[in-house]
Amino acid sequence: MNLKSKHFLTDTDVEQPIKLLATKYRTKKGFLRDFTSLHMMVITLRCNQKCNYCQVSSESTDAHKFDMSETTAKKVIETIFKSPSQNIKIEFQGGEPLINWKTIEHTVNYAEKLNKFQSRNLQFVICTNLISIDEKKLEFIKEHKIDISTSLELIHIPFTAKRVFGCLSSP
Ligand code: SF4
Repeated sequence: MNLKSKHFLTDTDVEQPIKLLATKYRTKKGFLRDFTSLHMMVITLRCNQKCNYCQVSSESTDAHKFDMSETTAKKVIETIFKSPSQNIKIEFQGGEPLINWKTIEHTVNYAEKLNKFQSRNLQFVICTNLISIDEKKLEFIKEHKIDISTSLELIHIPFTAKRVFGCLSSP
């Protein structure tokens, strides 16, 4: 291997090869600038269903200490905004995120407030089973252009075969 042509060795000025190598390395690793664009916030572990395929350790709706507090969510948002990426996508997951709606509202409002000074491409997604959606939540979702990610499996699979209401107070 010709180490000189690869800029590993030089018998002249070192500054030029170092600049060349730095440019080459920056270009090669350029994808890292967008590496941290997707952020998932597990806003609660509580869920109103008990699907037999559930991949998370979901808890019943009356369980305690399984919701992310507004204070913690605020710190998470501040950490997310340390990302060098121009694109920031925040995905609310659970459990069933709508159960901890107050923290979602607070998080979206706070992130938008921070973004007024940063002008990132800010996007939100709520991964939800939609069971506890209502007009008020839909208004907020529409107003803040939040995307919804859900599953339409109920069209194909009998309800009782895969999903079971996990809410202990449900009949
Ligand atoms: S709705 Fe989602 S989080 Fe809740 S039990 Fe089913 S798979 Fe798990």
